[in-house]
Amino acid sequence: MHDCGATRTRSQLTRDLGLARGTASVLVAGLAEDALLHEEPAPGHARGRPTQVPGPHPQGPVALAVDVREDAWELAACELGGRVTVLAVVPHDGTPQGTLGPLGEALAGHAHRLGSRVIGAGVALAGPIRHGGLVDIAHLGWRSVDVPALLSRRSADAPTPPDDAQGTAPAQGTAPAQGIAPAQGIAPAQKARPPLFVGNDTALAALAEARRGRLRGVRVGVHLHVDFDLGGVLVVDGHAVPGASGSGAEFGHMRIGASDRLCPCGAIGCWGTDVGANALLRHVGLAYGGGRGREQAERVLATSEEAVAANARALGSGIAALVNAHDPEVVVLSGHGVELLKRAGEALLAACEPGLMAIRRDAPPRIEGSALGWRGSLLGAMESVFDAFLTTEGLELWRKSHPDQACDTPDRQSVTHSTLNGESAP
Ligand SMILES: [Zn+2]
Repeated sequence: MHDCGATRTRSQLTRDLGLARGTASVLVAGLAEDALLHEEPAPGHARGRPTQVPGPHPQGPVALAVDVREDAWELAACELGGRVTVLAVVPHDGTPQGTLGPLGEALAGHAHRLGSRVIGAGVALAGPIRHGGLVDIAHLGWRSVDVPALLSRRSADAPTPPDDAQGTAPAQGTAPAQGIAPAQGIAPAQKARPPLFVGNDTALAALAEARRGRLRGVRVGVHLHVDFDLGGVLVVDGHAVPGASGSGAEFGHMRIGASDRLCPCGAIGCWGTDVGANALLRHVGLAYGGGRGREQAERVLATSEEAVAANARALGSGIAALVNAHDPEVVVLSGHGVELLKRAGEALLAACEPGLMAIRRDAPPRIEGSALGWRGSLLGAMESVFDAFLTTEGLELWRKSHPDQACDTPDRQSVTHSTLNGESAP
């Protein structure tokens, strides 16, 4: 249900999973009692007994997901199936405290308001992440910033909203979560702090692409995310290759091309300095860097053919190098990459082809724009939370914290177990 975006009917899912109909009925009833899913009649069903579509339960688990860009952060509540409700988009000053302080308060506020429905928070950041949470964002001057520590320090300091303000007192600068109801019957203050998952924005965009986008079912793919500069990662069997310390998604910092420009990361001639909003601004002589100038860059992208073509050529020649190295089935572009491909696809391909080995030129991989728009990193942050939740341990914890919903479901465990072993109940 989660993987298909809550779009398939119960009978389709029953077939997909190779279940007997009786087993599926018992499973669905158990999952509904656990407040994990809820069925609605399929739209447009005219005659007879309506076909049911399993979707998220109105009291079901919520993953808080955040995309921290260089100029603003976006916070959303996500339900099983991938439905996203944006809670806040807040500009920040680019400092670690000025960015993560208000974000920590917003996370704590929404976790308090939604109570036991919140199963975790996933945070995407525009820089390499090492050792589970130390982030460097070169353009903003962040070095080894301890993201979990800064987020939790501020959320621990944040005043606890009074109980009568639940649902009406979101954290500063945020909007109420329309359509996302707080948990019923369980005092939020009794709940432990939900787990936090921190990841690189490109790696998380690639994860979302592997689950719900162009990398779905792809064995070897390359994902490139273009924002102020360029990030990229190799995706194998649905997983971004993380590197030894977790900071593997850094194709933008390879020396490709003839530039000897110093990159804020400390290296010289990085590919990412020639692709993205900073490169567009530089091309037309505007100030760039520090996560500033998004709107001007979007104007340049919409109006300056020359700047767009230069970006696309730089992107194309780097893609050739990656294709030679990794032999991917597909190269997916997200962020500004979608627009670069749309507006200057020919220039991009013309720059790519001469760099390809002859054996690659015969059957070059597809180069495609993401179907997820700018949402990839946010959706990937959501997936990181649900990946930990949709496990035996995660679901057991959920059932324990929702005893009212789970108390009168007989023999569910044995049914689940036999299903996981591939047997079908009569
Ligand atoms: Zn660099």
